[in-house]
Amino acid sequence: MKVFKFGGASVKDAASVYNVLKVLHKHNAKDLLIVISAMGKTTNALEKLIQKYLSGSFPSEEIVDLKQFHNLIIQELFNSEKAAVYPKINQLFEELNAFLIGNKSNGYDFVYDQIIGFGELLSTTIVSEFLAEQGIKNTWLDARSYIKTDTVYRDANVDWEKTQKNILEGIQPNTINITQGFIGSDTNNFTTSLGREGSDYTAGIFAYCLNAESVTIWKDVPGVLNGDPRVFENAQLLHQISYEEAIELAFYGASVIHPKTLQPLQKKEIPLQVKSFYEPDNPGTIVCKGNGKPVQPAIPCFIVKRNLVLISLSTLDFSFMVEENIRDVFNLFHKYQMKVDLIQNSAISFSVCVDNKFNQLSALIQELKARFKVSYTTGVSLYTIRHFDPQSIDRIENGKQILLKQLTHNTVQMVTVEIKNF
Ligand code: ADP
Ligand code: ASP
Ligand code: MG
Repeated sequence: MKVFKFGGASVKDAASVYNVLKVLHKHNAKDLLIVISAMGKTTNALEKLIQKYLSGSFPSEEIVDLKQFHNLIIQELFNSEKAAVYPKINQLFEELNAFLIGNKSNGYDFVYDQIIGFGELLSTTIVSEFLAEQGIKNTWLDARSYIKTDTVYRDANVDWEKTQKNILEGIQPNTINITQGFIGSDTNNFTTSLGREGSDYTAGIFAYCLNAESVTIWKDVPGVLNGDPRVFENAQLLHQISYEEAIELAFYGASVIHPKTLQPLQKKEIPLQVKSFYEPDNPGTIVCKGNGKPVQPAIPCFIVKRNLVLISLSTLDFSFMVEENIRDVFNLFHKYQMKVDLIQNSAISFSVCVDNKFNQLSALIQELKARFKVSYTTGVSLYTIRHFDPQSIDRIENGKQILLKQLTHNTVQMVTVEIKNF
């Protein structure tokens, strides 16, 4: 079986869904599991809806907008007003409404997960019905019946044993299957989500459990480039990347592949192709066993993570920043769900660059201040260059103030702020 994953950009409007059909026709695969994300920016729209709901207002306008966006796409894809897609989509909106009215919980993360997956449920229903109408017989699968997780809402961890069993028992070979990225369910069958951009990871999970022949993620770029083309001019296509290198790139923030996707694939040596849905005939990038070659061609790779926080700590009593203090600091990072991107330690100070993903910075700083002398800068960027050379470092340093720099034999990382000339 092969696994394909189509992200939000590849199903952002009716023309894009037609393009998915074109890609599938070209590949003519009969043994396929297709993972699909929410259409376009639907997940962002759902986040706004959740915000409003949890601050006490019923998100009526947001629901109307969501309906309208999906209905316009449906109207372009289906000729008949009697198409089976309509009652199915209405049913999903009824479920959403019933949850919003009946819900008694104000646990942010729990409520978030009960709502956020509607984007994927809507998109997969539309694409599945559309493909069926176009002659591609397929089975719509509810990913929540297959991917079982713990109850860490918004960042759930997969229960591999149960998931493997469900997938092996439930998915028929020689069929085309369509399912949602990004969501699973806990033991009480409440919806959980795997973290933003987690649909790539879903593809990795299904591929691992199915012992798939390959995974292809279809993107709006020619493949994995040596830098995000939206940020780095003249980015070049990487033809081949080893699993280890791809894991490093994704971990440092190359957002073209979700970082959790690769390890399950590496374990079973399942190749991952990253290809353009605009140019499906082009080879794109293949991630596979590297045989000593991390990237081909061998060029520096650039990654930037923006809007991070650089926190520097020292002790209040001039004692050293050693194991005990550092342990306490990490406990606090864990408590406030800070994602740590870079650490630098000296005898009396400890600097750390964190991603304030869950918006808990003020609470963290307050608690740190009780124990340490604290200074912090928000809005910093973290640049990482893998396989750097002097020119690539110059390129990044130019026009920026470097707050911190760290070098290992093949990676340089720099925390920067832009120098503003007024
Ligand atoms: P999806 O539609 O699957 O959600 P994403 O938007 O998450 O796709 O990923 C594709 C985007 O990733 C590209 O449009 C590009 O801007 C960005 N990107 C970041 N780093 C890279 C890189 N190294 N190579 C290619 N694209 C990259
Ligand atoms: N729709 C989800 C998101 O936007 C998951 C994904 O696209 O991978 O984060
Ligand atoms: Mg995405």
